[in-house]
Amino acid sequence: MTKDQVEARLAMVTERIEAAARRAGRRASEVEVLPVTKGHPARGIEIVKALGVDRIGENRVPEAEGKRSELGLTPGVAWHLIGRLQRNKARRAVRLFDVVESVDSVRLAGTLSRIVEEERREPVEALVQVNTSGEAAKAGLGPDVALDAVAEICELPGLRVAGLMMMAPFTVDETVVRPAFRRAARLLERCRAEIPAFEGRALSMGMSNDFEIAIEEGSTRVRLGTVLLGER
Ligand SMILES: *Cc1c(COP(=O)(O)O)cnc(C)c1O
Repeated sequence: MTKDQVEARLAMVTERIEAAARRAGRRASEVEVLPVTKGHPARGIEIVKALGVDRIGENRVPEAEGKRSELGLTPGVAWHLIGRLQRNKARRAVRLFDVVESVDSVRLAGTLSRIVEEERREPVEALVQVNTSGEAAKAGLGPDVALDAVAEICELPGLRVAGLMMMAPFTVDETVVRPAFRRAARLLERCRAEIPAFEGRALSMGMSNDFEIAIEEGSTRVRLGTVLLGER
């Protein structure tokens, strides 16, 4: 992918976001794009940065470390971890990422909290990953336990809980995907209503194949790989 190609794709994606927001009576400015650079060379990060996007998503710690050592520091670009994080890689993640979107257990949150306290002054921004897809194999806290877990995670020092993240089922069937997004949006509302310490507004949901539906259902951040940067 060249910069010109990504620029054209970003313009097209921006139009689709605007149209989806309009359909839902929302403002497009409520939705931010997280370019997912996983599976692409480090240059992908430089390209999106040059296009004025100030955040990128990576799903694996070792791959992100490789890119960081290739690029050096990337001031003005927030690195978001969006993939499953094993606790034995939590320290490396804390050193590398500004935002961890894939906090999928109280235990992982506790580990991150302790490490942040040991390692740095500033809290890490965290999203709690929820699983509203009904698929048992998917990462994330189920709707039945999510509320209590979010409340516990909000008490931990070193983490600033900014909202929720979810992944929809891998299908193009809108009658499956849309309700999963809707349940996540409702869960966010419940967290905001019932957990005083929770002020999160971020709802990270929607990928290349389903981001418009996610926006119609309340997403504030769409994580876009293929549609922006091409096939991996
Ligand atoms: C890879 C990935 C994405 C982006 O996927 P695309 O379908 O290429 O847009 C979004 N979120 C997560 C968690 C991912 O792992």
